[in-house]
Amino acid sequence: MARRLYIHRMADGAECLAAALRSVGMDAVVLPPSDARTLELGARHLAGEECLPAKVTLGDFLKVTETPTFDPACAALVMPTTEGPCRFGQYAPYIRKVFRELGYPEVQVISPTSGDGYQQVGNLGPELTRTAWRGFVAWDILRKLLLRTRPYEGTPGDADKAYGISLRELCTVLEKRGLRHRARLEALTATLVRIRDRFGAIPARYERGRPLIGIQGEIFCRMNEFSNDALIRRLEACGGEAWLSDVSEWVWYCNYDQERCLRREGRRLSFTMLGAKLRDLIQRADEVALRAPFAEDFLGYEDPKEIEEILRVGDRYLPQAGAAGEMVLSAGKVDCFFRKGVDGIIDISPFSCMNGIVSEALYPRQSQEHAGLPIKSFYFDGTGRDITHDLEIFLELARTYQRRKPHPRRYPPCFP
Ligand code: SF4
Repeated sequence: MARRLYIHRMADGAECLAAALRSVGMDAVVLPPSDARTLELGARHLAGEECLPAKVTLGDFLKVTETPTFDPACAALVMPTTEGPCRFGQYAPYIRKVFRELGYPEVQVISPTSGDGYQQVGNLGPELTRTAWRGFVAWDILRKLLLRTRPYEGTPGDADKAYGISLRELCTVLEKRGLRHRARLEALTATLVRIRDRFGAIPARYERGRPLIGIQGEIFCRMNEFSNDALIRRLEACGGEAWLSDVSEWVWYCNYDQERCLRREGRRLSFTMLGAKLRDLIQRADEVALRAPFAEDFLGYEDPKEIEEILRVGDRYLPQAGAAGEMVLSAGKVDCFFRKGVDGIIDISPFSCMNGIVSEALYPRQSQEHAGLPIKSFYFDGTGRDITHDLEIFLELARTYQRRKPHPRRYPPCFP
């Protein structure tokens, strides 16, 4: 019997991945949002020193065993992994171990790895890889629309409602079976245009001057609203607007890193390298096509065209040849955000995260060399400490910086 794939809800983009898996005939579902039970179950099987994402992912996967339909013989947990020093590489083997010890050795743990640019997903079919990639890009666009609109909406809840409807529409296109690549791209683009118009129709009072805050840091924690105690919503409630770094940025970084490893191994001229280059070309073409209708809407929110640009500017703070992971991207994003006229940067990381600690050590110098741009690290450990006061103070710093920042922000036409 085919297995049911359980995908962790790191972010709503997981819905797009599940839809892509369904498009090739798989039974894929996304886990429900995390809650107190998540932390309780996770903590039961951990020593307490692990990173918060370990507790959240393990706890959510264990919650699956409490559902009436759970059948260990037909269950597969999707838990990506990575190579290198980061503890993230231990999550999948540890989850496997816990399930085995609990008497569920039949449960499979599927672990696509960043080391090969998540090509294991590709082994399930190039068709799937491409649809999943388009799903991530489409979700990045949708989330950007949400964050650009919500702080200015006239009626609280309008933007979230439009977001929910739009996410379902995207998934409907992504999960359609038997659709050719071109037809799916056209359908996705048409859906995104409809979504753009839906957001455009939301009654909103766009006003210049609201502090724009770049959000970066460890990918799980910054994307997972439960883990970061809804930092972005709190920031908006305190009078800010968030510009959250994309998921696709991480995928581009993994692609880049895979090619760098191949070169280091002397496999510059290999079929694997050829495949990686081809994948980049296809992904780039899809991304350009999906983002094309949004040039005006995201005026002032443009990301660097190439991941190398981020890595190049960050290299003087953290040589990317000797480091890896989010810290490398965070080092470079400071300069990119700065040039786009943000009023501050927040780094979101789990408590004791290696990436967060390295980044935090770099920020004072980066701030100094970027006209005093306020940069603050927020760490999360699942205890739910109220961060509102810290955000208010940070926004005061951002407002002060805004008055003297050297790079003015550009606004889309919806701003008067
Ligand atoms: S990136 Fe940070 S939080 Fe994530 S596994 Fe590594 S050390 Fe832990």
